[in-house]
Amino acid sequence: MSDIRVRFAPSPTGKVHIGNIRAAIYNWLYARHTGGRFLLRVEDTDLERSTPEAIRVLIDCMKWLGLDWDEEVFYQTGNVKRHLECVDKLLASGRAYKVEKTSRDGKTGTVTMFRMPKEGVIEFDDIVKGKMSKKAEDVQDFAIVRSDGSPIFHIANVVDDIDQRVTHVIRGDDHVENTFKHIEIFKALGAPVPRYAHLSMIVNQQGKPYSKRDGAAFVGEFRDQGYLPDALFNYLLLLGWNPGDGREVLSREEMVELFDLEKVHVTAARFDIKKLAWMNGEYVKRMPEADFLRELRERAASAGLDVSGRADGWWKALAGQLQIRTKFLSDMPGNCAFFFTEDFAFDPKAVEKRLKKEGVPELLEDLADRFEKIEPFTAAAGEESVKELSAGQGMGPWVHPVRVAVSGRMEGPGLFEMLELLGKDVVARRLRSAAARLRAGTL
Ligand code: GLU
Repeated sequence: MSDIRVRFAPSPTGKVHIGNIRAAIYNWLYARHTGGRFLLRVEDTDLERSTPEAIRVLIDCMKWLGLDWDEEVFYQTGNVKRHLECVDKLLASGRAYKVEKTSRDGKTGTVTMFRMPKEGVIEFDDIVKGKMSKKAEDVQDFAIVRSDGSPIFHIANVVDDIDQRVTHVIRGDDHVENTFKHIEIFKALGAPVPRYAHLSMIVNQQGKPYSKRDGAAFVGEFRDQGYLPDALFNYLLLLGWNPGDGREVLSREEMVELFDLEKVHVTAARFDIKKLAWMNGEYVKRMPEADFLRELRERAASAGLDVSGRADGWWKALAGQLQIRTKFLSDMPGNCAFFFTEDFAFDPKAVEKRLKKEGVPELLEDLADRFEKIEPFTAAAGEESVKELSAGQGMGPWVHPVRVAVSGRMEGPGLFEMLELLGKDVVARRLRSAAARLRAGTL
């Protein structure tokens, strides 16, 4: 155990941006690494957006990613009394004052302002960015209570950090300017100033802040698109940090052991969807076999494929072939439909490239004859017979057309394993049917 206390303090809006959740991940890892506490504070003071539904979405995302928090969830709206007590203190000590303000709709009301010092420098040593400083005179006085009496972000955020005894504030660097203000509030309230670690933005290919215009930007969208939570977690961690030894796929235990705020990158991290997809595939590969098999069976069945009458051993062999090649679990039914139905689609490009060639119908029929004689029809025996045919010249001219004839596509499991899984009769029938359709010009 250590005295370190960090918090994730999102304003729930019904969607959780990946930049925010990366801040949550860094906070969580820092707490777990140091043996400190990871707190969840819901900054729900915007009553219009912070609906119970928005809060539920936020909590769901945290749970989905395995970001468990310590202590009770802290709701900012539950601490308004304390925010206003602190404002009174500031008013009493002269660090806050009231002014009449006319709002845009023409109404006048009294606003409470925080008084910034008019000289000196505000400094802090950011764990990520290093020494930061600003002349106090360059920061204007700012409002802390609205004319309707409700506390504004700056005071609520700081008072909550004091009350939650937060020692390290790890948040996006869009808050750097706020930090100069917040430090003055901590000091004016006689509270210790936490350490800060400001995380650089996640940017798009053009170097602009990554937004929903660039593609999926909210955690829920990635979940709906079939990303695994651990893959998204691992990928987001790498956007701004790495263990420094070239490793990219890390277990949760390794992350906790290795994570360190000091090594967080100062430069903005570029979001790369291809890399995230690769990462997802790495996690699919590492799924326990039994889990992958269950997903395969469930997804094939719910996609409407006829999955009846298959032995457990057959499923296991199919899963073994697919697991190493699947990037998204949601792609599976489409990628393996041809194992379950004769009514599978032919990729026109594959047909053009591999089948529409002189001699291919004859070649397919010849193979159908040969395969029919093999007993038992195993992957090894199938391969042996094609090897014989190719007489050391390379099996390409045979294997490419066969693959397309039996599956309709150019990529997929190992060819001979696939043929064994399909079974001799199905393979021979499909080879003959493809030959016939090619001759008839219907493929
Ligand atoms: N609710 C603020 C945000 O989501 C909190 C920032 C902070 O972590 O202090 O940006």
